[in-house]
Amino acid sequence: MEHQTIRACSIWRALEVVGDVPVLLILEQTFLGRHLFGEFVEETGLARSVVSNRLTRLIEAGVLEKPQELRGGYRLSQKGRALFPVALMILRWQHLWAAGDRAYKVTLHHRTCGQATVPQALCESCREPIDPRAVSWEPGPGLSQVTPVYGRRRMPSVTAKRGDRIMVDSVIGLFGDRWATLVVRACFTGIHRFDDIQRDTLMASNILSDRIERLLTQGIIRAMPYSAHAGRFDYRLTEKGRDLYPVLLALLHWGDRWYADAKGPPLLLTHQSCNHSLVLRPGCSACAEPLDITNTTFAR
Ligand SMILES: [Zn+2]
Ligand SMILES: [Zn+2]
Repeated sequence: MEHQTIRACSIWRALEVVGDVPVLLILEQTFLGRHLFGEFVEETGLARSVVSNRLTRLIEAGVLEKPQELRGGYRLSQKGRALFPVALMILRWQHLWAAGDRAYKVTLHHRTCGQATVPQALCESCREPIDPRAVSWEPGPGLSQVTPVYGRRRMPSVTAKRGDRIMVDSVIGLFGDRWATLVVRACFTGIHRFDDIQRDTLMASNILSDRIERLLTQGIIRAMPYSAHAGRFDYRLTEKGRDLYPVLLALLHWGDRWYADAKGPPLLLTHQSCNHSLVLRPGCSACAEPLDITNTTFAR
């Protein structure tokens, strides 16, 4: 059979580790400074068995570690700390599009300037905000194809709750579901039609239909008829959908850093505004200086 592989860009590799709702909820808590199993259970609203299973997985993936001095507590490894830009870009999107979705809000403080900040997605070379329409994609030396193992993962649960607080907003629900993320990836790479997205992602039709339906409902994509035949649509990202780009970019950088093979990155991006290869640099909304894990404090 042909077409049994899909493009193995670093986003895909990153999603194999973090493309899971409970994993994203646990990582959020680690960035908020939690260390203990009981805190993860309490704060995420997830079942103990789920938390335990994901902690094991994150240790195996080298994202978390369990150092002696924490007496059974968990902390982010260097590889885990490198996910900080992903967390920042998720926070940026939540701030723009999902304020009030959850019963609590994560805020960020930039110690360098002493101000409350909202992360900005800036180009490292020209320091301008990144617009995905000004980015070109080319296959890189490490581009390969993989056979996706979708397994029998259930739809990501959106029922994680603590009391009546909904813990999962749309961005966590989306990146916690690799299928939905692959549909969004396809749209960013210029693939817009059902059959083409299906070829790009190898999803079963019913699953693809379901994800497209959900992305439409969430206002991430919109359907534009392209022929007189009923039911023929181009799926295009909305502004809300385009704002997911920095999250994908942060995942791509993380995947490139930790999973690219020796040949080099699978994908080369150019920022057309400045003609440099594109590197995301999270910047402060107050002072425009870089935000990183050492100069930034999360709070609830
Ligand atoms: Zn630039
Ligand atoms: Zn600042």
